[in-house]
Amino acid sequence: MRVLFIFLDGIGLGENNPEINPLARAKMPNLNALLDGRSLLKSSAPFVGERATLLAIDPSVGVAGLPQSATGQAMLVTGINIPAELGYHYGPKPNPEVAAYLQNGTIFSRCVEAGKKTALLNAYPPRYFHGIDSGKRLYSSIPLAVTNAGLKLFTHEDLFAGRALSADFTGRGWHEMLGFPDTPVLDAHQSGRKLAKLAKGYDFSLFEYWASDYAGHKQQMDTAIELMETFDGVLGGLIEKMDDEMLVLGTSDHGNMEDLSTRKHTAADVPALVIGEKTAREEFTDGMKSLTDVTPAIWRTVMRD
Ligand SMILES: [Zn+2]
Repeated sequence: MRVLFIFLDGIGLGENNPEINPLARAKMPNLNALLDGRSLLKSSAPFVGERATLLAIDPSVGVAGLPQSATGQAMLVTGINIPAELGYHYGPKPNPEVAAYLQNGTIFSRCVEAGKKTALLNAYPPRYFHGIDSGKRLYSSIPLAVTNAGLKLFTHEDLFAGRALSADFTGRGWHEMLGFPDTPVLDAHQSGRKLAKLAKGYDFSLFEYWASDYAGHKQQMDTAIELMETFDGVLGGLIEKMDDEMLVLGTSDHGNMEDLSTRKHTAADVPALVIGEKTAREEFTDGMKSLTDVTPAIWRTVMRD
């Protein structure tokens, strides 16, 4: 069975407080429909419905301090409690100690070794690769795991050829800010349909939506609402095009955006939103309590016939 993992950076389950939580304000009709009227809030989990399950899972994993991106993402793709082994949360980019966990044994490398098709569906602009090649930029944990598995990151050529999506889902950022006026721009709904179509070509695929963490650090309410409403539009298109052979997981590495009263990450639980056929969903979410439970769940599902 296929798994599409939509990684939502820096989104925790927060209070129903429109003063500080964009998720208490954003209009998200597609998500609400999946959750029988609920929003992406702390009070909504746990929930098991006809088409979706929402759990609250723990990113802190028993280690003091606020959860961070490098260790959080590394846990999501290895299933190992890396903060407990190292004694700290770390981020945003992996240090050598965290990077060592991403050498092999990740969900990407395991899929490759098992002959399963896997990819990171984001397209990266030329300046990203220049930054990596010149040593000015470090890979974050997810692309590091992907490249260590011998997989290629998608480029602008893949984006233009329709083999990948831009990090904002729609291509608007490439069009308006990255200097690619020829980028095809989709609306959110079309992007969701496109995402479903791309995910059908893989046993396991991941898409990384990182602007949410950025909006959280910048404490930008309007931007955060817009990002969540775009995500909701994507969900609408995705649901329309996905089938019973696919599970969709939306989860995060740590909280941040759900509490704009602080520039920092939060200690909040993060959502594990799982969409798809009910029995597969039950197996996927069985015993899921923290970020370390995500890789085993993906592996079980991908290895099912
Ligand atoms: Zn952050």
